[in-house]
Amino acid sequence: MERERRIVALVVAAGSGSRAGGDTPKQYRGVGGKPLLAHAVDHLRAAGIEDIYVAIGEGQEALCRAALEGSAFPSVVLGGETRRESVRNGLESIAADGSALVVLIHDAARAFLPAEVVQRLLSALERADGAVPVMPVVDSLARAGAVLAEPVSRAGLVRVQTPQAFRFDRILGAHRAWSTEAEPTDDAQVAQAAGIEVVTVEGDAMLEKLTHSQDFKRTEQRLAARLVSRTGSGFDVHAFAAGESLWLGGILVPHDKSLSGHSDADVALHALTDAILGAIGAGDIGEHFPPSDPQWRGAASSLFLEHARGLVEARGGRIDHVDLTIICEAPKIGPHKQAMRERIAALLRLGPDKVSIKATTTERLGFAGRGEGIAAQAIATVRLPEQP
Ligand code: MG
Repeated sequence: MERERRIVALVVAAGSGSRAGGDTPKQYRGVGGKPLLAHAVDHLRAAGIEDIYVAIGEGQEALCRAALEGSAFPSVVLGGETRRESVRNGLESIAADGSALVVLIHDAARAFLPAEVVQRLLSALERADGAVPVMPVVDSLARAGAVLAEPVSRAGLVRVQTPQAFRFDRILGAHRAWSTEAEPTDDAQVAQAAGIEVVTVEGDAMLEKLTHSQDFKRTEQRLAARLVSRTGSGFDVHAFAAGESLWLGGILVPHDKSLSGHSDADVALHALTDAILGAIGAGDIGEHFPPSDPQWRGAASSLFLEHARGLVEARGGRIDHVDLTIICEAPKIGPHKQAMRERIAALLRLGPDKVSIKATTTERLGFAGRGEGIAAQAIATVRLPEQP
């Protein structure tokens, strides 16, 4: 393969269909904490395809931008009335940007692309100008009807998936030459109509199209099964200062002293926040909320904890459990444990049974023993998806 020319992917994400349920077109719908389109783009990148075009529907710019927030942004092309027109617009846009050697035309609804399929397609293009992944038909086939009509032999039939790979100039020519009224259901049909030989490679069950609500549910379960468990720890200390508002464990505890700090100084929530950040490898609380930044002066520490929870969710993960130990001589924690537990559970959107609050003293030893401040330590267990 010539190195100097590009391999480009064109992802068709222009549908407005919501057979999957809800008002949002399915390519922007979340599954495993991430929109389907973002999964599609990330899987292409993981398969080594960096040059990606996305054909979107009219008025979907904001949805697309939100869906791909945080990832290197692909080139966005306005699609057309039909899938064929969307592909045509995408191909013309690639041609206008300097053409390409090979294009992989893909559907956002088949987001979970294994890298091996890309490898098979690219090697097949060494012997043909078009290649598609196919899967066998395993179910019996018959004509539809309220009463089952005659059976259809499945012998010699395959299911054709995407991405479909073509020599760029040939598929662009085929699209430009397409003239019949009939709408093709994929690009292999356009290629074949132009006399391009399309060879087949082995497809993959991961490329099943997500269409209906139950497809999303199934995928959600499959992604959940691929989550890996991680644990993080957090520790924090704040000194007592004059005052009467003691924020601890997300609640106001009656006491004759406050804790000193830049925010509300809730040492327990700080330790918990660091435990969650630790579990996802996202640094520490000081990096996210620098004490030098005046906007966090007196801030409610609940914001920090919610931010950490948001980061877990943004990675498609979930928090399974947190365990907090508060270390001080006074105030007594016991009477407040249940309220803290409920408050932290609400902030983390967990059941209270997934939040543990413990308290201990240091037998009057050390700074906590002398009543100079409060220490807290925490452990968080989260599950995160393995990266594609
Ligand atoms: Mg702190």
